Amino acid sequence: MSASLDPATPETEESHAREIDRAVAAATKARSRSYSPYSDFEMGAAVIGQGGEEVLGTLIENVSLALAICSERVALFSAITGAVKPQVLALCSPRTDEELTWPCGACLQVALELAGPELIVVAVDPDGNRAQATLRDLLPRGPHRFTPTNRPS
Ligand SMILES: [Zn+2]
Repeated sequence: MSASLDPATPETEESHAREIDRAVAAATKARSRSYSPYSDFEMGAAVIGQGGEEVLGTLIENVSLALAICSERVALFSAITGAVKPQVLALCSPRTDEELTWPCGACLQVALELAGPELIVVAVDPDGNRAQATLRDLLPRGPHRFTPTNRPS
């Protein structure tokens, strides 16, 4: 059986749920490694690849604040470095304004190019509350048709 998130059948829905649970657990683990001495806002992310691979990313801050990088981009870049095609991206973070924290615009744009609009994105808080959406849902007007070989001129 393929590990990819194909159209729903009872088997694929069960597989999707397992992959999403794995992504949430991995992102929660990655959060414990957050390097965030300036904000104290610990964040971790994980990618589950189409082959079932698990890739972690953590927030990495720097005294030169502009050099910080979000946990989601660390996970996505590590996935690409390892030739992993992302199918799920989970982010574990404290809530912001009492709402689940979703990836920032920069991370969504990077995810769109590296993983495509059907990527499943999961936001989870440290208590395990979570929600999920596709990247297409999160970036409804994103340039879905653009790829590195099909760019606007
Ligand atoms: Zn971000």
